[in-house]
Amino acid sequence: MPIKTGAEYIQSLKGRKMKVYLFGELVPEPVDHPMIRPSINAVAETYDLAASESELASVKSSISGLQVNRFLHIAESAEDLVNQNKMQRKLGQLTGTCFQRCVGMDALNSLYSVTYEIDEKHKTGYHKRLVEFIKMIQTENFVIGGAMTDPKGDRSKAPHEQEDPDVFLRVVEKNDKGIVVRGAKAHQTGCINSHWIIFMPTMRLQENDVDYAVVGAVPADAPGITYIYGRQSCDTRSMEGGDLDAGNSKFAGQEAMIIFDNVFVPWEYVFMNGEYEFASMLVERFTCYHRRSYVCKTGLGDVLIGASAAISDYNGIPNVSHIRDKLVEMTHLNETIYAAGIASSYQAHRTKSGNWLNDDMLANVCKHNVTRFPYEIGRLAQDIAGGLMVTLPSEKDLRNPETGPILRKYLRGRKGVDVEDRMRILRLIENMTLGRNAVGYLTESMHGAGSPQAQRIQIARQMQLEYKKQLAKNLANVKDDTPSSPEMSDYFQRVFKTSSKN
Ligand SMILES: Cc1cc2nc3c(=O)[nH]c(=O)nc-3n(C[C@H](O)[C@H](O)[C@H](O)COP(=O)(O)OP(=O)(O)OC[C@H]3O[C@@H](n4cnc5c(N)ncnc54)[C@H](O)[C@@H]3O)c2cc1C
Repeated sequence: MPIKTGAEYIQSLKGRKMKVYLFGELVPEPVDHPMIRPSINAVAETYDLAASESELASVKSSISGLQVNRFLHIAESAEDLVNQNKMQRKLGQLTGTCFQRCVGMDALNSLYSVTYEIDEKHKTGYHKRLVEFIKMIQTENFVIGGAMTDPKGDRSKAPHEQEDPDVFLRVVEKNDKGIVVRGAKAHQTGCINSHWIIFMPTMRLQENDVDYAVVGAVPADAPGITYIYGRQSCDTRSMEGGDLDAGNSKFAGQEAMIIFDNVFVPWEYVFMNGEYEFASMLVERFTCYHRRSYVCKTGLGDVLIGASAAISDYNGIPNVSHIRDKLVEMTHLNETIYAAGIASSYQAHRTKSGNWLNDDMLANVCKHNVTRFPYEIGRLAQDIAGGLMVTLPSEKDLRNPETGPILRKYLRGRKGVDVEDRMRILRLIENMTLGRNAVGYLTESMHGAGSPQAQRIQIARQMQLEYKKQLAKNLANVKDDTPSSPEMSDYFQRVFKTSSKN
């Protein structure tokens, strides 16, 4: 039976043979761990949204013929990509955290076109295998984790040059049944909450790196896989009892390191094996999808703007001009992120395989804005919140018969506002700018889908200075030796097209 609701999803994770370490100990059942559970709740929302708002979060797939969760859908039009963005913003609003499914969605979509093009050149059968895999996960309605980032060791060296060859995941054995891989993937969002993990190379590869050019899918509880849970700031607040100090007690993100210790992958789940020249195409297409997926952070931005407006109201200054102006600034920054992301989706084009890929330049602009604007939005939220956000006593002090009344007397804001409500909003702002969900809102915004320099490199590649120089020279009536009209890049051709459909 396919998983339908959030509750069924949570049930589906129980009883698996996962080897998960947290605080130096094996976790008997991750689903029941109070520190892990909020991250599972966030993924569960992706199921409940598909059940309640089916147009936004589910769609008919031509691959399986089924109505599927949008996170498992291969984009069949620019509109599909636009709808992904709308769903991502909505889920950010509902959870205030990373709901962990975009990496899998973007991995499936990039692999769909890349496997097609590998097959075209090498006469391999990866695309058909991938399509069968997609049919299976759409039918079962599974969560897919996308594992790209290797630990990478010495950043100045290629995989084959590393002192320890395992710091990039690689094939260590092949036989007639499949391959065996060894290595690790770092910072893996939602991996323990996934049913299957797709592993992929993390960077452009050369001939010497042929063993590292590998893509495959494994069940999250496959033999040989170990997870070491990543700590988040203030995460143990989930284990203290009460629900106030956590700030957002229901939802959180999840990152862990995955260790692949000689993990066997049958051929039917291998989607690249040695075609090293396609690693850069895969990384570029994946990051193209994924950098625009960061519009999810505008949903979190909506929550933080709302929290800032609420605390200014509780403090009695909702209509003061500089507060209004700061809320306008936060909104402007937030919508700037959204604008680039959704424009990138609207400017999509069809790949050879038939699926749709959003515009790379605008995706990189979206992600580059995400590396900066949430920090400024967070700064303004902290400005509006006041210092109490970081000096507030604990929930236990509020509940204590001696200190509780004192806190209720001295922590009041404007008349009619409950002290506990004021504390709750302050804790939420702390959670999103310094606490658990700052991981998703700030540092993931910085490094996820590549650190800022990675976007600058992509923007530089496509900025077409020669074309722009010529525009200037034409108008200034400059005659020099440069060709009179350098060709427009794909990006500019798309900018000037009236329709996004090819
Ligand atoms: C919260 C979070 C969630 C994430 N989720 C996922 C996930 O689900 N799946 C996944 O695959 N990845 C995930 N990532 C990983 C993310 O893609 C990486 O963090 C990112 O690619 C940067 O890699 P790094 O962290 O190893 O930093 P580094 O590569 O060490 O970068 C640190 C700095 O060094 C610079 N640098 C690095 N190498 C070079 C070089 N050779 N030359 C010049 N400068 C260099 C970078 O530009 C950057 O400024 C996640 C990251 C975070 C923080």
